[in-house]
Amino acid sequence: MKNFKKIAALFLAIVMVGSTFAGCGKGSSKKEEETTVDKSSWTPEEYYGVDGWEAQENVIDDNYRNYYHIFVYSFADSDGDGVGDLNGITSKLDYIEEMGFNGIWLSPIHQSTTYHKYDVVDYYSIDEEYGTMEDFDKFMEECEKRGIKVILDLVFNHTSTKHQWFKEATEYVRSLEPGEEANIEECPYVDYYHIKKNEDVNGGKYYKISGSEYSYEGQFWDQMPDLNLASTEVRREVEEIAKFWVDKGVGGFRLDAAKEFYTGSAEKNIEVLSWFTQYCKNLDEDLYLVAEVWDSFSVIKNYYTSGITSIFDYAYGDSTGHIIKAIQQAGNGQTGKNLTANFIKTQNAYLESNPDMINAPFLSNHDCGRIAGFASQKPERMKMAAALNAFMSGSSFVYYGEELGMSGAGKDENKRAPMYWSDFGSMDGVCAGPSAMDEVKHKNGSLEDQKEDKYSIYWYYRNVYHIKNTYPEIARGTVAAMDAIEDGNVCAISKTYDGETIYILFNLNKETTVVDVPKDVYNYEGLVASLAVDENEVSMKGETVTLPAYGIAVIK
Ligand code: CA
Repeated sequence: MKNFKKIAALFLAIVMVGSTFAGCGKGSSKKEEETTVDKSSWTPEEYYGVDGWEAQENVIDDNYRNYYHIFVYSFADSDGDGVGDLNGITSKLDYIEEMGFNGIWLSPIHQSTTYHKYDVVDYYSIDEEYGTMEDFDKFMEECEKRGIKVILDLVFNHTSTKHQWFKEATEYVRSLEPGEEANIEECPYVDYYHIKKNEDVNGGKYYKISGSEYSYEGQFWDQMPDLNLASTEVRREVEEIAKFWVDKGVGGFRLDAAKEFYTGSAEKNIEVLSWFTQYCKNLDEDLYLVAEVWDSFSVIKNYYTSGITSIFDYAYGDSTGHIIKAIQQAGNGQTGKNLTANFIKTQNAYLESNPDMINAPFLSNHDCGRIAGFASQKPERMKMAAALNAFMSGSSFVYYGEELGMSGAGKDENKRAPMYWSDFGSMDGVCAGPSAMDEVKHKNGSLEDQKEDKYSIYWYYRNVYHIKNTYPEIARGTVAAMDAIEDGNVCAISKTYDGETIYILFNLNKETTVVDVPKDVYNYEGLVASLAVDENEVSMKGETVTLPAYGIAVIK
């Protein structure tokens, strides 16, 4: 009997999914009858009707993807040494796929001297803490099976001081007699870096090479010497490295520190991005490149003239981006309208620089604090931020653990705390975290806990990405403002792609609002999906939508 009840409940859930997605709102009048069922005892799976999800999804195999950003050291440990590794990630691919992510950005995996591995010793290797090349091949094979594109963090602004190139260059300048000039015919590696005579160093971040008359540039750290990207030999090396990984099945690269290729010269940095983009396009036109240009909207717009597909949108991410600002200013009367205006302004500007650009919105990454801090630990704010990020046009990025509302602020190591799979520790692949990390306390439960709570941040994320995967217009559509929606707290936008238009209303208010969506202005049938931050659901009757605080309506 119990089973029968469960099946009946599940059946209802699936029926509801057909019209709006179960648990997301009260849509048509038919739907209202259905929601009179008491759902309080339903399991999350029954509530969300996930059995029916896959069939409805409409995932296109292109470069508009939902990327999951994995900081390898802290994600999943397969062998009990406390360090995340490739086999650990492979063991969690079902989880990643189930979340609705179809792209992975791996933090650097090459041999290195640090836990973060941004100082590369050998670009053709896998760091032994993370596994072997065989483990990598297995990981790639499992990603391929699931339709997950993998992009590697390619760090070519600098290497490690332990890199063979740097060792050769420094040994060579040490071997010179006093006053003798370095000669690149004798040692080509001298030209691989910005190595200068001490007397020629005039400002900038230079460090002396002991036992020589020379210094080298290191923008980030004295152990990370900057490469000389003007050297055709260095460019040839970078091309070979890229080709090596592309031949191994990698779908593209995240380009670290693009602003420091030539510190202080946007023009030269843009040229580097153009060169590398062109090289990759010639290798395979489907390769995906996204650059880190940690700067404002106008600078990012300028860098898009390089022709690169994506640049992380710092105008929206991090603690000062438009998304978190809109949430912090929720209810001020204009916050929705302002966000709409920003969406349109940035979209048009980036497209003006590069008509083929795909924006790359994100909320946080390994260098920013966690969104939990920016959202004052309020789950409803984290949920709204998640949806705004996911529903921006482009390829959205999610830093691992944001889907659990993990904490992490202050020093870098804290921002890279172990993925909170469960309280079972190593049995579940939970990592130890970087050794310099403080104790990071999470206000929200582990994955294990959140799976049981249908109002958790975890379930909200799953619902967000399910909706996004069902309507391709959300990622790919051109944004326009819905000017007929008067409430200034509501960000009301349309997205048009491939002849289809979808309408999305975000209530950036701490209170319920009721808005009319005139059918004589907007051509739609009704509410197709909605997101609520708690049990107060979104509903639509005729042309009238009721949006609870931070509620979202998707209309088509
Ligand atoms: Ca390990």
